[in-house]
Amino acid sequence: MNQILIEEINKNKRLMNLLENDLVKLSNTSYSNVKYDNDATKNDLVTKALLDDIQKAADSVGVTATITTAKSGHNAHVKNSKRTSRHMKNVAVDVAILNGIGSGGASNSRNGNAEFRRLGNKLKNALVSMGYTWNRESGNDKAVLWQTNTGGNHYNHLHISNRTGVSSNINVGSEDSDTEDDISTSVTSTAKDKLNNILNSNLDGSLIKDLIGVTSSTGTNGNTSSTDIIGTIIKLSKMMS
Ligand SMILES: [Zn+2]
Repeated sequence: MNQILIEEINKNKRLMNLLENDLVKLSNTSYSNVKYDNDATKNDLVTKALLDDIQKAADSVGVTATITTAKSGHNAHVKNSKRTSRHMKNVAVDVAILNGIGSGGASNSRNGNAEFRRLGNKLKNALVSMGYTWNRESGNDKAVLWQTNTGGNHYNHLHISNRTGVSSNINVGSEDSDTEDDISTSVTSTAKDKLNNILNSNLDGSLIKDLIGVTSSTGTNGNTSSTDIIGTIIKLSKMMS
């Protein structure tokens, strides 16, 4: 192996470590307001930004959200669609228990457990105040599906996704929110810059981004969008394993 290749691999390894830290195993978390099922879900990896957001939202409205499905056992595709589910990308979770209460078999806006629906509305509203789009995930980085049949029955659980890798602030006058914003944005920019440097570097005569096929996911400026970072890292890690 030539020296350049070794250097590239080491750079990739460092980047992966950097970004892997952003995926956390649910059983390693100890949020006050975000719990998880004790089935295979507890071993699933989920982007920390999403969990931090759910914690922030749930705490603000006095709800404890239990993640009942993350990646394990979820369909690979969005219902009635060819789109790959965000669950497969570790950036979406389903919450079917709120304050220990299930939906009671809810399938519309009137049946099932009324308290579950009330708590779900509060959690949804808090997420919306943090920039989550309600009931339209496609094309939106952060979304919550609730009280809709879009993508399946979302009367018996909330589906919450964040593919930015960056956590959000609640939009109700938090004094230090600007500072937090600046910090998280600069961390993400650093990771993005590093990733773009690697993707645009040359390996045995080919660009790494061409070798792993991320050309189609690059933006107009030729840079990888933050939303594709996790997918790219998975490709990189497969390529190196
Ligand atoms: Zn879901």
